[in-house]
Order: sequence, then structure tokens, then C-alpha cells
Amino acid sequence: MIATTTSSLLTDLHCSQCGSTHNAFVRQTLSSCCQAPLLAAFNLDNSGLQKADLATRTKSLWRYEELLPVLQPDNQITLGEGFTPLLSLKRLADTFGFSHLSLKDEGLNPTGSFKARGLCMAISKAKENGEQACIIPTAGNAGVAMAAYCARAGLEAVVVMPRHTPDAFKEECIGYNANLIQIDGLINDCAAKVHELNQDGRYFDVSTLKEPYRLEGKKTMGYEIAEQLNWQLPDVIMYPTGGGTGLIGIWKAFHELKALGWLSKEQRLPRMVAVQAENCAPVVDTYLGKQPNSKQYIGKPTLANGLAVPRPIGEPLMLNVLRESGGTAIAVSEEDMLAGVSDLCRYEGIFAAPEGGAIWAATKKLLHQGWLQSTEHIVLLNTGSGQKYLDNVKGQWRR
Ligand SMILES: *Cc1c(COP(=O)(O)O)cnc(C)c1O
Ligand SMILES: [Zn+2]
Repeated sequence: MIATTTSSLLTDLHCSQCGSTHNAFVRQTLSSCCQAPLLAAFNLDNSGLQKADLATRTKSLWRYEELLPVLQPDNQITLGEGFTPLLSLKRLADTFGFSHLSLKDEGLNPTGSFKARGLCMAISKAKENGEQACIIPTAGNAGVAMAAYCARAGLEAVVVMPRHTPDAFKEECIGYNANLIQIDGLINDCAAKVHELNQDGRYFDVSTLKEPYRLEGKKTMGYEIAEQLNWQLPDVIMYPTGGGTGLIGIWKAFHELKALGWLSKEQRLPRMVAVQAENCAPVVDTYLGKQPNSKQYIGKPTLANGLAVPRPIGEPLMLNVLRESGGTAIAVSEEDMLAGVSDLCRYEGIFAAPEGGAIWAATKKLLHQGWLQSTEHIVLLNTGSGQKYLDNVKGQWRR
């Protein structure tokens, strides 16, 4: 009997450093040639796919299944991730002098963050490739998402997380039956522990960009922004940047939509802005020329746990996105991100993660600096729900 297959257009993987081609139909981690992230490629020219095909599709990221890497429908491990609302922020815009602000609320994803997109894809592919056990270093949300999708797929999960992470992240991982290991330090210290625990290769390592498919899940934010705006893109996208998969993925998605012919070749793409915390702003420092790269960067914890990534492996790819798009990188203080969380709550009823507070704080700052024009259409990506961060925001509401 021939197994049913999805109509995935996956063809191969390309090394992000040298461009060489790698087999997409076997287990892959970093590229064997350069130890660099691998990027999935699809057969998009003459695919015959039409925008109108989407009309009747499921309201989750699986509506784009041809553009995703999973080959067997049975391996699509889903909790209903994606197709989050793009909300207009009218009260905030009126109050702070903007004319067109929108927010994509990724806090509504399963497990309360956009990490669900990446991990649903990585764990679906891990299952498809016959993996039994997965391991991840995390600042919080990625570990929770991996634990949930592993539970649903019936895979063993090991999550290595900084000890200072709010309890809500830890309890949820334990609830999903993950083996939770706590480390004194940041995500790079957790990564060292993962390396130590996985000397014998017993686990599939789902670290950011060390396998090719979390990026494929995250890129669907780009498809959705385009589709939800009826294929008219905003002028600017504000993105809270840690490991950078969202930034890199959204940019990849826009290029794929051009290759499909769903966006015109001439269409101007948005300026992409990487927002970081002053406590841990490696990409901002490299972008501003304060260091050649972040390989030696020392970061401090931040209330926006997801932004505490001192030495992101995807830095070269992120810098390309910022330069190609004419974007920029900016850091905000802990105080400003808390004020940002308060603003989103009191003016719009959105309880964002501190990462979401940070992008709103950065948006106000860039308007004051004249980098943003008040008439531009600005899309904010709120990457997580505030609900897991109560330990971080408790008693700090701005009046
Ligand atoms: C992980 C995380 C980020 C950073 O995302 P990257 O795609 O790794 O840059 C931002 N916000 C939240 C809430 C996160 O969990
Ligand atoms: Zn290479």
C-alpha cells in the first residue's frame, strides 16, 4: 500500500553559508560543510498554487501545507497553532500619534507563544524522521512548546532552562511530562549542558536553527501577515529578537510569496526592525558596529526572558535581513518594556509578554527619533502572552 502524502513542495536544504545543497529527506542538523543553519527549499515556480485555494483551508498554519516540510498527514502534530488575529490598535495609535498600527497577537497560540509554530514543525518532522527523544536549551517558551508537542507526538522530552525563569514555564513543562533541568545562567549555558547530556547523540537536538524546521514553522507568520492584509504588506515590522528565527523566517516567507507569484516581483517589502533588551542586545551592538560579532558577548537576564540570547547562531542571517530590508536594530530598557506592557493592557486589553511590551516601547522611541513616520503602517509582533510572566510583572503596573 502506498502511504498518503501531503502535497509538500519541499525539494532540498541549502547551507546558509556556502549555498550547497543537502538532502531534505533524511535527518539533518547543521550543514555538514560549514556547520551553519540549513534552509529548506521548495519547488515554487510553476507550482500551480493559487491564493484562492486558501479560502476553504483550516484556520491554522497548516493551511499552507504545500509550503511546509511535513510529508505525511499523520505526522502533522497540531494543537491549532497559527492564524492568529492581526488586530488594529486604534486607541494606542490615537493616543500616541500614529495613524496605522496593527498587532499580530501570537500570545493566542497553543502554550501561549509563537514558539508553538516552530516547535510544532520541528517535532512533526522529528516524528516523521523516526526520532524517539528530543532535547532543547530554552529561555522558557520554546521548552514549554517542545514539551507540549512531544507529549502529543508521544516522544520523550528533555528541557534545559535557566533557574531564574518564572515558575509558570517550569510547571507547564513538568505537566507535559518533560524532564526539566535547571541551570544557573542564560540559554548559552543551557546549550552547553545539552551538549554534555547529548554526547552519545541519544536525543534529537531542537536548538534554534540547529535543525532546519523550526524556521519553517515560524515563517508562516510572514504568510499570514500578507494574507491577512490582502497581499498588501505593511511599511515596517517590529520584531522582538532573541535567536532570530522569526525575523529570518518572515523574510524567507516574503521571498517565497514572490517566487509563487502571490506577491508581485516589484512589491516593496517591509523594513524589518530587531528589538532587543538593553540587558542583552548582541545584535544591536553588532549592527551598530560596537563589536565584529556576538561570539564573545556577555548578556544579563531580562524580564523579557525570550530576548536573553547572548550569542545567537543566526546572527549573520539576521544582519542580512536588517540590511536587505533597510531596517534597524534597537534596544529598550527594562523600565520601558514594563511601561509598554502597561500601555498594551490599559489601552487595548492585550496582556502581552514583556517581549511585546518591548516592541511597543521601541516603536515609540523610533517615532521620536524620526526613523518611523507617524503615517506609516507598522505591524507589531506580540510574540507571547503575559500570563506566564506574572513573576516578572507583578506589582509593576504603570499608572
Ligand atoms: C523566543 C522568544 C522571542 C525571540 O524569538 P526568536 O525568534 O528566537 O528571535 C521573542 N519573544 C518571545 C515571547 C519568545 O519566547
Ligand atoms: Zn556550507
